[in-house]
Amino acid sequence: MEDLSQSLVTRFLRYVRICTTSDRRIEETPSSAGQWELARLLAEELKALGFAEVEVTSHCYVLAKIPPSPGCEAKPAIGFLAHLDTAQDVSGKDVQPVVVEHYDGKKIVLAGANGPAGPVLDPAVDSGLAAQVGKAIIHTNGTTLLGADDKAGIAEIVTMAEYLCACPEWKHGPVIIIFSPDEETGKGLPCFPLERINALAGGNSAYGKSAAASIPKPALTACYTLDGGPLGELETECFNAIEAKVYFSGRVIHLGQARGELANACLMAAAFAVMLPRSESPEATDAYYGYYCPTEISGTLEKAGLEVYIRDFNLNRARERAAALETFARAIEAQFPGGKVRVETKEQYYNMKEKIDSRPEVLAKLEEAARRTGLSFTLKPIRGGTDGSRLTELGIPTPNIFAGGRNFHSLTEWAAVSDMEAACRLMLELVRVWAE
Ligand SMILES: [Zn+2]
Repeated sequence: MEDLSQSLVTRFLRYVRICTTSDRRIEETPSSAGQWELARLLAEELKALGFAEVEVTSHCYVLAKIPPSPGCEAKPAIGFLAHLDTAQDVSGKDVQPVVVEHYDGKKIVLAGANGPAGPVLDPAVDSGLAAQVGKAIIHTNGTTLLGADDKAGIAEIVTMAEYLCACPEWKHGPVIIIFSPDEETGKGLPCFPLERINALAGGNSAYGKSAAASIPKPALTACYTLDGGPLGELETECFNAIEAKVYFSGRVIHLGQARGELANACLMAAAFAVMLPRSESPEATDAYYGYYCPTEISGTLEKAGLEVYIRDFNLNRARERAAALETFARAIEAQFPGGKVRVETKEQYYNMKEKIDSRPEVLAKLEEAARRTGLSFTLKPIRGGTDGSRLTELGIPTPNIFAGGRNFHSLTEWAAVSDMEAACRLMLELVRVWAE
């Protein structure tokens, strides 16, 4: 197989220059115009490769079908997924990527607008850099994020598609490409075009029966998200997520006559936030520990509100935390006579592990493809959500594979070109394994 890195890097540099920052305050999908720009560019590129079935949906999902090799029409259809948007935490506007052909192992000052005071890539702090000595990396100029999350995944998928076009002898079944909007805000998922994907994938499903009668039977047998970090990283589980909104009503009276009468909603909300166990917070936990995290607080004497994220890999434990909020609410009412507290909770997304485990061939094929490319996997839980968890819920098991980026959502984000190439080769091997 020839060198894929040139094509990969050229594409990646083109994609990261388009600003696709998503906006969590906007309710429409997509939440930003730049996502349209990238979606249309990708659709054009896929058409130019010669694929007839390419579309951009009304919510900015890019869908494309790589038709099966002759004789492989009845093989299971599999998908690859990556997201168009970048996180809002750091600017994604006017990204100026810097390619280092042969990294020398030294500190790199990202000197964009700040000169020598810019952020630093330091191998003493960033352990991933040592493995890249002598290899190519791509970093920012220190004023924006890079957008390897997830344009690395997009570049890898398009490069895989290009390779399959150029090498008809490489056997594969139907392959569906999905680029999704608003992954970072989590708001793109309700618009997920399952019907369209089923239509594209056609009747090649090896899938047994659907999880619920209301969910149409998916024609995609499996999907793989390319949205992760270093070489070999594989993620098959994510948090269960519950969002809680807590409403506080005070008892208000002129402050001159407040003694013994006032129940101050501001204080109630603050007291509630303090009651959440600090040992179960994102800053105090890692690996498989779940948490509570107050994410927004607002209020007046009369009314206050608090938003709390509850996360846990175990759904029962997440639900126990949600139930505990009711207990805390009663405790606050007891401390603030006359005040009232109401808790509303909503389950947002679920850990995909159980459903992925129920279809062992999805990981078995991946393991086989990895073995053939000389790669071994490290399993890592995602302390967050992923578009893959929603797809898994819809009946399409969707584990998450490394895409080669590091330090996501930050000015020091960088990408390892050799890891990107390895992800691309892994996908190519995987489509071949599925067609055997
Ligand atoms: Zn991502």
